[in-house]
Amino acid sequence: MIRTICPKCGKETKIFIEKFCLDCFRRDFENRIKIPKFISIYKCKYCNRYSLSKKYLFNSYEEALSHFSLHYDIFKKINLDKNFEIFENRISITFLKNNIIISKKEIEVREKPFVCKFCAMKNSGYKQAIIQLRFEVSEELLKKIQNIVEKRNKTDFLSFISKIEKRKEGIDLYIGSKSTAYEILNFISKEFPIEYKISKTLVGIKEGKKVYLDTILIRKI
Ligand SMILES: [Zn+2]
Ligand SMILES: [Zn+2]
Repeated sequence: MIRTICPKCGKETKIFIEKFCLDCFRRDFENRIKIPKFISIYKCKYCNRYSLSKKYLFNSYEEALSHFSLHYDIFKKINLDKNFEIFENRISITFLKNNIIISKKEIEVREKPFVCKFCAMKNSGYKQAIIQLRFEVSEELLKKIQNIVEKRNKTDFLSFISKIEKRKEGIDLYIGSKSTAYEILNFISKEFPIEYKISKTLVGIKEGKKVYLDTILIRKI
């Protein structure tokens, strides 16, 4: 037997979405699902990265919003197909069932400035390593080092120089990420012959592990 009467409204219909006619299904969807009118997105004043929660950082606006569309709790609970379109200051979502559009929603995206955790660390001089260059450092070499640090920053958010200290005998670089510091050492050792010394200073305990600050002293030979 072919069902032709909607059990909810009693209208005759050929299209059933789950148990009800399209109108009833849509009405039920609108009553049940509350999509926010707007969301806030935070943009770091220093590194221009984006965050939705101020916790996780994304390299771009699109990346942040695609994460939102995949992981936002309300969307996950909606058992319909979803099409997301990301625009400059809004997201448009189409909800579908069997290719029939059930509803279209727009969420306004409001951008707000903030300072991300990593830039706050950088600004406060955070370091995992200090590189002591004990020779006359050319602008060119310093530029190359900065390029390495910036390049690695795309994947390692702690890859930054939080302080450049000029001294009589050379310069000190405060590096946020240990692995970046060792990459710099590796790079310099290929530029010209060097000798180096690494010393480790215990600076604290984090999650039961001893945390050391590595000081890498580099001389030309
Ligand atoms: Zn109906
Ligand atoms: Zn930042």
